[in-house]
Amino acid sequence: MKKYQVDENGFFGKFGGAYVPEILYKCVTDLQNAYRPIMESEEFKSEYESLLKDYVGRPSPLYYAKRMSEKYGCRLYLKREDLNHTGAHKINNTVGQILLARKMGKTRVIAETGAGQHGVATATVCALMNMECEIFMGQTDVQRQHTNVERMRMLGARVHPVTTGNMTLSDACSAAIRDWCCHPENTYYLVGSTMGPHPYPDIVAKMQSVISQELKWQLKEKIGRDYPDYLIACIGGGSNAAGTIYHYIDDDRVKIVLAEAGGKGVDTPYTAATIHCGTEGIIHGARTLVMQTDDGQIEQAFTISAGLDYPGIGPMHADLARKGREKVLAINDDEAIYAGYELTRLEGIIPAIESAHALATLKKLTFKPEDVVVLTVSGRGDKDVETYLKNKAMAKEYGKF
Ligand SMILES: *Cc1c(COP(=O)(O)O)cnc(C)c1O
Repeated sequence: MKKYQVDENGFFGKFGGAYVPEILYKCVTDLQNAYRPIMESEEFKSEYESLLKDYVGRPSPLYYAKRMSEKYGCRLYLKREDLNHTGAHKINNTVGQILLARKMGKTRVIAETGAGQHGVATATVCALMNMECEIFMGQTDVQRQHTNVERMRMLGARVHPVTTGNMTLSDACSAAIRDWCCHPENTYYLVGSTMGPHPYPDIVAKMQSVISQELKWQLKEKIGRDYPDYLIACIGGGSNAAGTIYHYIDDDRVKIVLAEAGGKGVDTPYTAATIHCGTEGIIHGARTLVMQTDDGQIEQAFTISAGLDYPGIGPMHADLARKGREKVLAINDDEAIYAGYELTRLEGIIPAIESAHALATLKKLTFKPEDVVVLTVSGRGDKDVETYLKNKAMAKEYGKF
């Protein structure tokens, strides 16, 4: 069977590629040539595996959610990425890429961040590896996510507030790329999701693929077969979703359902649902689906969830969604808030508001009682408690809590 993967030019179908300014050609080509041999080397693998185990805390548990299963009439298992060090799946990727950066002889690391989760995960591994760390973050997000800014600074990173554009994630990405252009020799750009120019979407998907690699043996242990009937994840840039589905993309027995952020609704201007509302274009070095005006200006994304607030989508998902391999649902703010409260009250797990989008799809799907559903809880909700409380009225509309 032919395995689904990126082609030699960095494309997934017609999406992907590396659209970068000339000054970055060498950087990007060096990385394209270096990443596979490094990631396939025994030295990398053993260092990576040992950090995942002892530093991140993997394998993350696969938890049978009994009360939620009863409620939705299926056998629901939660993949607990929320229990990782720093509270989300993002650390799987930063731990791997920092090893890659070191092997490539880079001494300075830059990264973009929206909510600050990727910034914290990057600052964390830079502290661990004694690397210089500079984080680009929109001024709006610096104010909204102050605790994460303090965490990054405590970890030794320099945080640069970005004051161009809407001063959010998309502008932080652009600022990071500009910095990279000025320091191409010594700097490693540590991208936080399955986005950006080739090879980043492939690197990040491979780093996160540990999620589905564990699912194989965990399911075998728990249900006697190594595949589920459904895989569900939320999708911002697409990294936790890519990791969740990676080893099942070619397996037609497995249905894939992803949740993107509908914001106030896909029929309003206040949405981040790129797969529903986007059109083909180029954003941050890749051809993909983009929310843009008719004349190609990038539009601002809106959602209650800072981690899903991106007007693009990873090229792999643009391709898989357009080909029908992924079913993508847009989940609105109120539906996510409700789903977050529901998991909290039924299972005692407060999910990140991003992950709550994935949970909200359960209501919209029809299961058979024997269906095995695996849903990735991408992160924990400690960072979102204020948002949940402030917007509790949204969940009340559904007559609960
Ligand atoms: C950043 C983040 C996301 C969205 O990013 P992906 O690359 O789409 O996974 C989802 N959940 C949590 C908890 C996050 O921190």
